[in-house]
Amino acid sequence: QMYWEDTEYFGNYGNLKIHHEMLSDRPRTLAYQSAIKNNAQQLRGKRVIDVGSGTGILSLMCAKYGLPSQIYAVEASDIVEHTKTIVEKNNLGEIIQVVHGYAEELKLEERVDLIISEWMGTLLLFEMMIESVILTRDNLLKEKGTLWPSSANLFLVPCSAHAQYSQKMEFWDSQFGFDFSPLKPVAQQEFLHKPVHNHEMKPEDCLSSPVSVVFIDMKTVTVAELEHYMHHFSFQIQKDQVMHGFASWFQVTFDPLGHNNDVVILNTGPWHELTHWKQNLFLLDEPINIKEGEIISGSFELYRHEEWRRHLRVLLKFKKVPNEMKENWETGTET
Ligand code: SAH
Repeated sequence: QMYWEDTEYFGNYGNLKIHHEMLSDRPRTLAYQSAIKNNAQQLRGKRVIDVGSGTGILSLMCAKYGLPSQIYAVEASDIVEHTKTIVEKNNLGEIIQVVHGYAEELKLEERVDLIISEWMGTLLLFEMMIESVILTRDNLLKEKGTLWPSSANLFLVPCSAHAQYSQKMEFWDSQFGFDFSPLKPVAQQEFLHKPVHNHEMKPEDCLSSPVSVVFIDMKTVTVAELEHYMHHFSFQIQKDQVMHGFASWFQVTFDPLGHNNDVVILNTGPWHELTHWKQNLFLLDEPINIKEGEIISGSFELYRHEEWRRHLRVLLKFKKVPNEMKENWETGTET
């Protein structure tokens, strides 16, 4: 049995709240605007599909700055009724055709030059809207066509997160003068076995250089590949600290349409302006002390949930290689 929870999913996108949040996210929306403005000349006369157009913002920007010949703004939720009104209000009805339906079911006589979409979710892939983008690509993008975003990375780094850990765990040491510590194992189950969404971290929380654990080339990725990603890591720790877990965020890039244009990057990491995705935090049951030079080695696996098809499961395995053991470890001896 597979569940897509589409009633709930598209029900949410029928309300303004979520669109208000996305439009308020300036780094997000301005990255798309930069890609469009930088490539305005190359967009002239092109055919575009906006997969999941929401309020229509990306289609409106394409039409205003790029003057494509035709934009199909496809949206499955009921927000689409308002999108039509907005397009008319801005006198862009000649260029933008608003279509109510699933993008992957769109049928056109002719393929398009560009697919633009904002499909990214928590841990990049949550919601799995990317599947609709891939299917639309296979159905309707020209062979030499472009996807925006063009590529995506998910990053991982060991981190400290004192405040989050103490708020969830040390909290139970004492409440109003009473010992609440018997609840600690319960809290571990309830709070630590799912990632903390909406975590706001600082660059100095990173205990090592982040690595990319998932890379997606939008031109070639297949739906089957989304089932499982695996990456082996080996982080070299850069400071003596308490490690509370791992943090994660993503980046997407927008390929230029012309040779002289720049790549546009939207990075949701701690070195960049905060977006509505914030960062994600995987807390350990027990913090560990680590020292500069030590190695955190292991693997990161991301599974698409077998049953709940818009959901993900993450499996993180790791061990600390203390400085005393490093020599053996580096020469491959079992420790
Ligand atoms: N492009 C808008 C909205 C992005 S949110 C913006 O940038 O602000 C993603 C939107 O895609 C939601 O409105 C959701 O309802 C829609 N969506 C998701 N999957 C879809 C599909 N398969 N077909 C059509 N619309 C879809």
